[in-house]
Amino acid sequence: MRKTELQRFRKMLEDEKARVMRSLAQHEKIIKHTDDQSGLELGKAHSNHMADQGSDEYQYETTIKFANTEGRYLYNIEEALGRIEDGSYGKCQDCGKAIALPRLKRLPYTRLCIECKEQEEAQQA
Ligand SMILES: [Zn+2]
Repeated sequence: MRKTELQRFRKMLEDEKARVMRSLAQHEKIIKHTDDQSGLELGKAHSNHMADQGSDEYQYETTIKFANTEGRYLYNIEEALGRIEDGSYGKCQDCGKAIALPRLKRLPYTRLCIECKEQEEAQQA
């Protein structure tokens, strides 16, 4: 892969990493906030918020799920940045062949070529 191309992928990955970290920080706030509120709710004898509790809980759960997914995503991005550093970026971690550029442009953090990815998915299914 050409150096200019590699630089472009590094930039894409770094931008994406910054975005995910911002979004995770925001979700962490929601999680903490929800925890604080449920602490307060316990002290209230007559809660007017019974109807809201279900949706709060739902939001809390989706927030945690989202944080987990984004956390994994962030990990993949960091791994890809590491591969740019050690020079293995753009190569399939399984078969060692170069990953097609259009695939990398769509998924800059991917570590498998399309053939190996499909094989992996077929095994999981
Ligand atoms: Zn492969």
